[in-house]
Amino acid sequence: MTRADILGVAIDRVDLDETLARIAGWLDASAGLRHVVTVNPEFVIEARRNPEFAAALAGADLATADGVGIVLAGKLLGEPVGPRVTGVALTEALADLRHPGARLFLLGAAPGVADEAAARLREKSPGVEIAGTWAGAPGDDALPEIERRLDEARASVLLVAFGHPRQDLWIAQHRERLATHGILVAAGVGGAFDYLSGRVPRAPSWIRRAGLEWLYRLVRQPWRWRRQMALPLFVALVARERVMRALNRADNGRQAGRRTR
Ligand code: UDP
Repeated sequence: MTRADILGVAIDRVDLDETLARIAGWLDASAGLRHVVTVNPEFVIEARRNPEFAAALAGADLATADGVGIVLAGKLLGEPVGPRVTGVALTEALADLRHPGARLFLLGAAPGVADEAAARLREKSPGVEIAGTWAGAPGDDALPEIERRLDEARASVLLVAFGHPRQDLWIAQHRERLATHGILVAAGVGGAFDYLSGRVPRAPSWIRRAGLEWLYRLVRQPWRWRRQMALPLFVALVARERVMRALNRADNGRQAGRRTR
């Protein structure tokens, strides 16, 4: 199936069930590491100025729409993408997957947070296999210790919460090495462990349904304003792209009309 193109970033047209089906298939196939990215508008803006990040996203095996902005942009640009598949929803669903090969490792967030997130996941999904948790760090110094812990845990699914763009740059950069430690699926999940641990409250479901989670985050975590500056830029770029596409279509229509005359 073709991927949607949201301002140069490819997004797969998948919902949560399809995402899980693909991950289960990769666990069955056991053929190298697959990278899953959960894309929001800040990723798209970052990718436009950071070629390494753009390449990491382009090289991902599955890209889901994490933010409502991506879903809306898809509609406006005539490039429909699936419903949102957020990092937190993906983490919870993986805990419920009940695939014999799914042994999760929660890497990232502040010390203790991944552990608390794991405890909540175990309460909600008693069948989950959480092989290990560690705050770790994206710097090279931490890599040998991460590798040691992955070996010890015999993990197969690595959920990485280093924030963007680092988490996906880190996965892309260490792809081969992580694969040698038995990791079959690695996904960047952003603030998922903060939410699951309860340290950061999730927006009430009516706010999420209204597509206003970004506003809730801004009110609860006002220090994010600088990062959220990416949002108005994203909206402006989507509007410009929509106009350009409409003009191109009109142009093509005129040319086709001339040819048939
Ligand atoms: N984080 C981390 N190491 C870092 C930077 C961030 O573990 O060097 C964690 C942070 O504690 C949080 C997660 O990354 O749990 C995601 O952060 P944020 O909400 O900023 O994610 P984003 O919205 O950028 O995906």
